[in-house]
Amino acid sequence: MECEDPEPRAPDKVPPDPPYPNTGTSGVSGANLKRRCVEEPQTPAKKNISNPDLTVPSIQTVYTHPSFVIGAINTYSENDKGPYIVHVSRISPDPAAGTSIRPIKFGQFLSNHKFQNIHREGVKRVGRNKISVQFTSAEDANNFITSPVLALCKYTASIPTFSVTRMGLVRQVPTDLSMEEFATNALLPPGCGNIIKARRLSRKNVEDGKVSWVPTQSVVVTFLGQSLPSKIFLYYTSLPVELYNFPTTQCYACCRYGHTKAACRSKPRCFRCSKEHLGDSCEVTESGASCAHCLGRHFATNRSCPEQERQRSIKVVMAQQSISYVEACAQFPTVSRPYSEIAQPNHSSVRTIYTTPRPRAPLGKSYDKVAHRDLVSTPVSSMPNGCAIIEPGT
Ligand SMILES: [Zn+2]
Ligand SMILES: [Zn+2]
Ligand SMILES: [Zn+2]
Repeated sequence: MECEDPEPRAPDKVPPDPPYPNTGTSGVSGANLKRRCVEEPQTPAKKNISNPDLTVPSIQTVYTHPSFVIGAINTYSENDKGPYIVHVSRISPDPAAGTSIRPIKFGQFLSNHKFQNIHREGVKRVGRNKISVQFTSAEDANNFITSPVLALCKYTASIPTFSVTRMGLVRQVPTDLSMEEFATNALLPPGCGNIIKARRLSRKNVEDGKVSWVPTQSVVVTFLGQSLPSKIFLYYTSLPVELYNFPTTQCYACCRYGHTKAACRSKPRCFRCSKEHLGDSCEVTESGASCAHCLGRHFATNRSCPEQERQRSIKVVMAQQSISYVEACAQFPTVSRPYSEIAQPNHSSVRTIYTTPRPRAPLGKSYDKVAHRDLVSTPVSSMPNGCAIIEPGT
């Protein structure tokens, strides 16, 4: 089943971590509930790329665990196995200022301020203004994010939500079941963290030019902790849990992936003809299109574009390996050739191969050039077809 995902996204160069649940510790017992999480910043709903002025009211239902309070932060629990990742950004008064951060400079900062128990190649860049730091223990990571030195030096640190939660997709949840009823009645297998969020997906429906969102039977469930159960139980039935992959985000202004038009810092690029203007003012039809990513004869928003396929693969790897967008991107080579060329069969087997001649040994003084030629040369043929073998009797 194909489901649109109208969940609002934070306007960031890198797609945001899975939605932050509003979480806390009050009134909850159990080791896996010792961590806390932060509330997702509220941002305008994602716009549809085919009509940028259309903001669709979402009717999706969301349940968030009541024991979690707004404003708390993600922390690792003693059950988490790691890697213990912390993300660090430089505090910038203006998000459009293009503040950036260099891994080696931040590593120097860590060293100068005597931060310890960091993996020896644990500082990596995962965004223009985002560094990933890998600690060797949960305690070190938890202590680091509350260090007063960070704020003094204009840094902000947090534990990414994808490091401390897992998201699964549960199908066949009746549409008349509220998300609260679903989450509070679901029974979980041993070792699985509590459900901290349940969100029903909606399907986009266009009728007479009017867009509406129809609830589906698919629910995205966020589990606390680093294990995703293979199934959960509801009303004496078992419901399989699949790994949930975030949908791709494509910018309407520049056609790139991983950010929205509101957060775009690039020159406009037309999704129809790939020239430097916005696509909504362009007359080019799909038959005359030139894709900004692969130069293929389709719009840059076409689902069959190899770049879109690559982006979908990136989302799968992000979910499978619980890593950031930038880290997942590095696992897939970028699409830079025309699709027609990529689709060509590989002709490498008939390519001309140039080899350098093998060096010959120098000729000795006793070498007889004429005698050598007589020995190795092909006998002159007497046959019209050039065959060297003389048949008997001729
Ligand atoms: Zn853009
Ligand atoms: Zn154009
Ligand atoms: Zn393309």
